Amino acid sequence: MISLLLLTLVLPNPTAREPLAFSRQVYLMGTQATLSARNASRADALADLDVLLASLEESEDALSTWRDTPFNRLNTLPEDRLTTLSPWLCRLVTDLYIWTARTGGAFDPGVGPLLDTWRVQSHARVASPGEVREVLAASRLSSWRFDAGACALARPHGGRLDSGAFGKGEALDRAASAGRRGSAWLIDLGGQVSVGGAPAAFPWRVGIAHPLHRDQVLFEVELQMGSVATSGGSERDQHVGKVRVGHILDPRTGKPASFSGSVVVWHQRALVADILSTALYVMGTEAGLRWAERNEIAACFLVPDRSRVRIRPTGAFTRHFGVRGAPR
Ligand code: AMP
Ligand code: MG
Repeated sequence: MISLLLLTLVLPNPTAREPLAFSRQVYLMGTQATLSARNASRADALADLDVLLASLEESEDALSTWRDTPFNRLNTLPEDRLTTLSPWLCRLVTDLYIWTARTGGAFDPGVGPLLDTWRVQSHARVASPGEVREVLAASRLSSWRFDAGACALARPHGGRLDSGAFGKGEALDRAASAGRRGSAWLIDLGGQVSVGGAPAAFPWRVGIAHPLHRDQVLFEVELQMGSVATSGGSERDQHVGKVRVGHILDPRTGKPASFSGSVVVWHQRALVADILSTALYVMGTEAGLRWAERNEIAACFLVPDRSRVRIRPTGAFTRHFGVRGAPR
């Protein structure tokens, strides 16, 4: 009797089948994006995908720093003259100031002039110490003047903002707000995955990539809400002679960040997950783990160690996903 009772308790309910997911793949925000939705019917799920896709396209048109967008127009503001921002840009710029300060400048969207000096977004070169010194001050958000009360921003001489480290996160938050009620959805933008609406019984399973071989899954996490962002070099690192010029720079020194693994961050807000994965990458393993523990952030460093990978999660990451520190 007791064993029968146990059986009925532990066996999954055969009628509670996982609903089918419908997916679309599109090229978006500089990456191959996958959108999935589960809903009561195929028509509903396809309508969910349309809404999410439209939102992502709108965000790209607003935020890209690769073409003319409202965000990129900040980079053509007249120098040293306060210009009024639209309400959404004002909110975003406020967030960027907050997180730049909280991370001690490890994340800094003002890094544009440095990115250009190292040419990390095309064919990398090694910048000389003199060249770095010349652009360092203009590569900080703090050298822009922001009047939060008036929602006005002034660009410093040579200043250029870059949305690379937070644009996907902001776009995913906007998609989450646009998503239709009653739908369970997942958006995978390459380095960042967001989900919403999944019932507890059917979380999405998300693969966390090996830091050096992005096509290999190191482990999986179950996601019911929020966003997982990964920052890492592997694919985008360039080598100039013997010098590795990664695409993530340390705005405090003006040089490429030296860490060579990857960092995974979960946060309810995709913008914050995106910002913090970049910031922790810049801080490196030990300082990054200390910062993330102090701030109770669910983060995990994946540190290549000869043929293995050392997994270094924070307490919050372990509590959230059951992932413990171990070599794999
Ligand atoms: P992510 O892949 O989210 O870590 O963002 C990396 C991208 O953000 C780079 O390709 C640059 O466009 C930009 N970036 C590089 N270093 C920084 C930094 N320290 N803070 C803010 N943005 C950065
Ligand atoms: Mg980022």
